Amino acid sequence: MAAAASGKHLSRRLLIALFAVSAALSTAMAIAVTAMCYHTTERDSDTALATQAEDIAGHMPAGTPEEEAAWFSALPFGEMRGTLIAADGTVLYDSQADASTMENHNTRSEVVSAREKGEATVSRYSTTLGTDTLYAAVALPDGTVVRVGETRHSLTAFLGKMSPAVLAGLLVGVFIAFVVAQLLTRRIMKPFEEVGLVQQPPADMYVEMQPLLDRINEQRQELVKSNQELRRAANARREFTGNVTHEMKSPLQVIGGYAELMRDGIANPEDYQRFAGLICDEAQSMRALVDDVLTLSHLDEGSIMESGAEPVDLVQVAKHVATRLHPKSIDNGVTVRVDGPAEVIVQGNAGLLEQMLYNLVDNAIRYCGGERGQVVIRLRQNADWTTVSVDDNGPGVPVEARERVFERFYRVDVSRSRETGGTGLGLAIVKHAAEAHGGTVHIETSSLGGASFVVTLPTHLGA
Ligand code: ADP
Repeated sequence: MAAAASGKHLSRRLLIALFAVSAALSTAMAIAVTAMCYHTTERDSDTALATQAEDIAGHMPAGTPEEEAAWFSALPFGEMRGTLIAADGTVLYDSQADASTMENHNTRSEVVSAREKGEATVSRYSTTLGTDTLYAAVALPDGTVVRVGETRHSLTAFLGKMSPAVLAGLLVGVFIAFVVAQLLTRRIMKPFEEVGLVQQPPADMYVEMQPLLDRINEQRQELVKSNQELRRAANARREFTGNVTHEMKSPLQVIGGYAELMRDGIANPEDYQRFAGLICDEAQSMRALVDDVLTLSHLDEGSIMESGAEPVDLVQVAKHVATRLHPKSIDNGVTVRVDGPAEVIVQGNAGLLEQMLYNLVDNAIRYCGGERGQVVIRLRQNADWTTVSVDDNGPGVPVEARERVFERFYRVDVSRSRETGGTGLGLAIVKHAAEAHGGTVHIETSSLGGASFVVTLPTHLGA
């Protein structure tokens, strides 16, 4: 799983995205709350200052400007700035500056507004104090104006005061965002983690996961199928090995038995030649078995066809097979005939095609037996298909056994097969060879009365 380990992590991406969004939201909330607090505090201090000015104006005893200034100057202003302005604009008293040095205040916006509306609140830069100041002014009936001022908090100063609380809130918000992001990620990822553990899709599966699950299921089924095939192949191999060993045992027993008799001098001298002949026969049948097993194992590996296909004249092959089997056919009283055009060319492996035909003709000779046995190798060809059939006038193959005779070691007539030196592998090789050439083989009832083995091959390999 090296690819997965070095690849992108969906869960990490999700976590980062969720965390980033939640943290951004928390920060935005903190900023909004701070701004709201600042705004509310400023508005509250506006109202408080206006109330203060109204209060002083309400309690101011009527009298001369000097009397009013004396009463006003006795008030405890503390941090606030108190100013009393006469009707002509002269500053009568200021709690934070020397009134006599101050210029005429009738042009100050809060004073002008207070004279117009009775009272006014104005925020302005004070040249006298050099700071941003909020003023609340109230005009008295005699034209005197009572003004109280308060230095406005700057936003930075306010933030400075608020920052520990805001920071703490922000930290808590970010922590909660992290925990929530992690929980959400785990929840979102859960169906993915459950995929493949069981054959059923996860309970809370996403619709988007269906194609992925379908693919996994397909591959699972393919794996099951190839597993079954592997098991079947392993079983077949085991069965084959068992059969080969079994087939080897009887000739070995015969050879061993007769050899012992001869070695120990128990056999009559006149039997020696007969025993030696029997040993030769058994050795011959063992050689045939070994040859067939080797051919089959080469066919299983596909190595025979690897040498490539070449043009092969099946008429020549058939004639060659008939010649090779001539002595046997004479011994069995069987005539072998080749029937077909002068030339039938197919693409294939000459050796394998000859072995295929040899097995069929050899069987035909062995099984039709008796006197007046007839075997016909018939060749036919058109643009697409080439057929080679081997007919005989023997007992034929029962319909129910026509598939099974192509299985390894399956015999219809066991004793006849053994008597005539059969290995039980001849037809398995025929079928394999036909298939290796892209063809098929099947059995029909011959017009001669016996079996007709029909091999059909594509005229051009790969057609
Ligand atoms: P074997 O070496 O026993 O002949 P094969 O694989 O060549 O093995 O054939 C399988 C079986 O098919 C034979 O045992 C035989 O019973 C049957 N068979 C094959 N060819 C013929 C034939 N021409 N006529 C009748 N039976 C046949």
